[in-house]
Amino acid sequence: MILIVDDKKENLLSLKSLLSVHSYPVDTADSGEEALKKVLKNNYALIILDVQMPGMDGFEVAETISGYSKTEDTPVIFLSAVNTDKKFITKGFRSGAIDYITKPIDPDILLLKVNTLYRLYEQKRLLNEMQISLRSEIEFRKKAQQESAEKAQELKQILESIPQITFTTCQGGKMEYTNNQWLQFAKSKNEFPETHSDDPDLNEVIERTISQSLPLAMEIRIKLLHTDEYRYHLLSIRPIQENDKIIKWVGTFTDIDDQKQAIARKDEFISVASHELKTPLTSIKGYVQLLQRTMTTDSQGSKLYIERTLNQIKKLDTLIADLLDISKIESGKMKMNMRPFNFGLMLNNTAEIIRQTYPEYELTYTEAPEVEVYGDEIRLEQVLINFLSNAIKYSPNKKKIELDAKTLPDRNLLVKVRDHGVGIDKKDQPFIFDKFYRAEASSKNFQGLGIGLYISADILQRHNAVYGVESEPGFGSVFYFTIPTTNISSPHE
Ligand code: ADP
Repeated sequence: MILIVDDKKENLLSLKSLLSVHSYPVDTADSGEEALKKVLKNNYALIILDVQMPGMDGFEVAETISGYSKTEDTPVIFLSAVNTDKKFITKGFRSGAIDYITKPIDPDILLLKVNTLYRLYEQKRLLNEMQISLRSEIEFRKKAQQESAEKAQELKQILESIPQITFTTCQGGKMEYTNNQWLQFAKSKNEFPETHSDDPDLNEVIERTISQSLPLAMEIRIKLLHTDEYRYHLLSIRPIQENDKIIKWVGTFTDIDDQKQAIARKDEFISVASHELKTPLTSIKGYVQLLQRTMTTDSQGSKLYIERTLNQIKKLDTLIADLLDISKIESGKMKMNMRPFNFGLMLNNTAEIIRQTYPEYELTYTEAPEVEVYGDEIRLEQVLINFLSNAIKYSPNKKKIELDAKTLPDRNLLVKVRDHGVGIDKKDQPFIFDKFYRAEASSKNFQGLGIGLYISADILQRHNAVYGVESEPGFGSVFYFTIPTTNISSPHE
């Protein structure tokens, strides 16, 4: 807006209409005092000041205005009829004015000057606004930068305080960051720790992981610096992605050496204990069998007790055999006596044994096809007995078990054991073949150690068999495996 200051009403009116016609917003004041009041209240782009006014004259008004910080830059045009000589003109400029026009006013000249000054003022105002917004942008960025530097520092401190060794590499595998724990195992921040001679080199591991673009988790032994000690660590390497592209890799080594040693000691204990238990148990079994054979009394009670003792000895024997099997699997000493045998026959015999041992259960079974399998007959029979006795054990109320075997078009034999018992919760199913794993629900109501399926899985793996379980809690389970067969008419093809 433009402020026109003149003590003469007619001057105010004619200037106002001239400027309004050219679309300038205009305000007026008829004295210097009123002008100062208005200037403090409103913002003006330009002030047109009559020099000669009663009371405060134009120069005084201009001087005062240029003293206010709010208006120090507001341009002023003086209008004067008399003070046209040089002395007055310079006084006008010194008091902060920008231009000077003498009366009578040439409207074209005035408009030209108003236009220029108005535009200048507008540009200056815009520049000021831009400067203010740029300043606040810079402040904002500075603050964000500071905050992210603080966050980075905080994350770094967290990484330094965790017991794990951590590192990051760029997308191509070049080392970027390692925490201080790294230096307990590696000679420098750019080198990988030395691995045990039986374990892969870490450079190769990283290279392979990056080329496959997949996360990795593996156990690896790394050497504690300045010692001969290798400690087991769980190495995990995971990609960091941005817009579906891998931008870096983050790795951690977690020390699991103590747990590994504890597991090794437990395995050792199981092995020694089961060996130590086996010898006296074999003697007890022998003596009780001798007692059974040489017993002269006809007492039914004594015969029953001996039979029950032998039954319990058998259970203990199976348990010790299972524990010994675990030790053998752990130490890689589980031997398979591989040869071709009639699988169908073995299946029929096993079904018969189960029928006789558990007469209260109904075992439905259609004769197995006459197929030959190249494998360890006794071990595969052990698997079958494990599946069948589990089916019986975990079906206390539904005493119907189905055994089914059929040859598939690819010549594999599919064997299924179905029960209608307690079933297995979905969350337990993926782990059911793990060592010592027992489903939470059944472990409360049934005795067991959770090793039968683990041994069965190991035996089946050694026969290239595919195995698994399908189960609906409350409705029963199906344990199955498929095993390759050879043709009975040409057994050695
Ligand atoms: P154990 O029966 O001695 O616990 P296994 O290794 O034979 O050991 O079985 C592991 C677990 O699998 C069992 O504890 C049980 O929870 C579950 N399981 C195995 N077979 C069945 C089945 N037929 N029905 C329900 N649960 C089963």
